[in-house]
Amino acid sequence: MSGGAQPGLIGRDRARLWHPYAPASPDLPLWEVEAADGVRLRLRGEDGTRHEVVDAMSSWWSVIHGYRHPVLDAAAQRQLRSFSHVMFGGLTHAPAVELAERLVDMAPSAPGRPRLERVFLADSGSVAVEVALKLAVQFQTASGHPQRQRFLSIRGGYHGDTFAAMGVCDPVDGMHSAFPGLLAGNVFAPRPPAASSATPESVQAWAAGLADIAAMHSGELAAIIVEPVLQGAGGMHAYPAECLTVLRQVADRHGLLLIFDEIATGFGRTGELFAADHAGVMPDIMCGGKALTGGYLTLAAMLCTAEVAATVSGGQAGALLHGPTFMGNPLACAVANASLGIIGDGAWRADVARIGAGLHSGLASARDLEAVRDVRTIGAVGVIELHNAVDVTAVTAAAIRHGVWVRPFRNLVYTMPPYISTAADIEQITAGMTAAIAEVHGRVPALAGGAARSGGAA
Ligand SMILES: *Cc1c(COP(=O)(O)O)cnc(C)c1O
Repeated sequence: MSGGAQPGLIGRDRARLWHPYAPASPDLPLWEVEAADGVRLRLRGEDGTRHEVVDAMSSWWSVIHGYRHPVLDAAAQRQLRSFSHVMFGGLTHAPAVELAERLVDMAPSAPGRPRLERVFLADSGSVAVEVALKLAVQFQTASGHPQRQRFLSIRGGYHGDTFAAMGVCDPVDGMHSAFPGLLAGNVFAPRPPAASSATPESVQAWAAGLADIAAMHSGELAAIIVEPVLQGAGGMHAYPAECLTVLRQVADRHGLLLIFDEIATGFGRTGELFAADHAGVMPDIMCGGKALTGGYLTLAAMLCTAEVAATVSGGQAGALLHGPTFMGNPLACAVANASLGIIGDGAWRADVARIGAGLHSGLASARDLEAVRDVRTIGAVGVIELHNAVDVTAVTAAAIRHGVWVRPFRNLVYTMPPYISTAADIEQITAGMTAAIAEVHGRVPALAGGAARSGGAA
């Protein structure tokens, strides 16, 4: 086979590996990545065909500066020549200290609210969420409220795949039904109204419902946890920023901590550095991850206020009870510092605005397809929602033929391109997404009055 250093690689994969949310040895197509550079992946299919595609997913929100970025490559190589890893118990190093200082400087702030100034470095987003939830419970216990062990969240959320994180994911669309004995006990309010259709009245009605639920359970709740402004893997649902103000008020009224999961939204993706900045609302605890290292290495961070840190440290346990083996991995921290350095030059803001405008105009024609229920954009995120479940295999293959890598889920075909994407790249992405849906789910244009069709989202 041509270039065949590894003929049958995909077959060997099928024999040995698991893939995300997949059965063992699935029949589903897989593509080998032969190269990745800038916004482009070179894929090789099982039959040997090659495709150069634009990565519309930024490898699940993470590769914001593109592949093989010279500044990130140089940072990794510099750190490799120094040391790749040391334990973080009893030891420290410059990359971790610099990263903590950068994160504190960047974190959302608001007049009259304490800053987020203490940083816990975790090895993935899910672990950062675990640590945030653990910290909230330890805070309540140390504050004399040991009965406050549950969490309030909103429907449609996604916070990760470890057990405590899964427990605050949407109780129906999340994975709760598979683990009934392990995931009970949290409290869920309805999701806020969609940003595109919200009215002052609908936000008010949502706020009243939230207030009731919080009041009913306040004595047993430790914290509220939400993805601010944009729910990601739970359904790509954008909601009005003023809902964050409501969440802050409810948390304060009942002595709950407010946790913002910015793992997907952080580092500019929604048009502000953090989604919390859309409302100027401060959480007590924040999680970041995904784009933190520009997609080079796995790393996440949990930030909290000095008060929360001091209370937990002064509690009976005397410590935050968590400490991963690879905590503060120097290589990951060094690349994160380089990535945040690029963010620090501020060009991301114009990039995200430009990409957002390109997605908005490029995806508009998808509205004309009968299969399409809604098209929405926020920051550098574009979403096409279908009436029914996406044929993931067929849409993925069709998009690849159009030179685009997308990974649809449920009834959503969506994109969050790297910030370095050009206008031509965005045009290729939006045209490819729209064409793939049209080819697989039908070209029939929407008819007037089509809203009468089933609104059932898969
Ligand atoms: C992806 C994600 C997580 C989980 O992060 P992992 O690194 O996959 O563990 C948690 N919360 C949100 C909002 C996410 O998008």
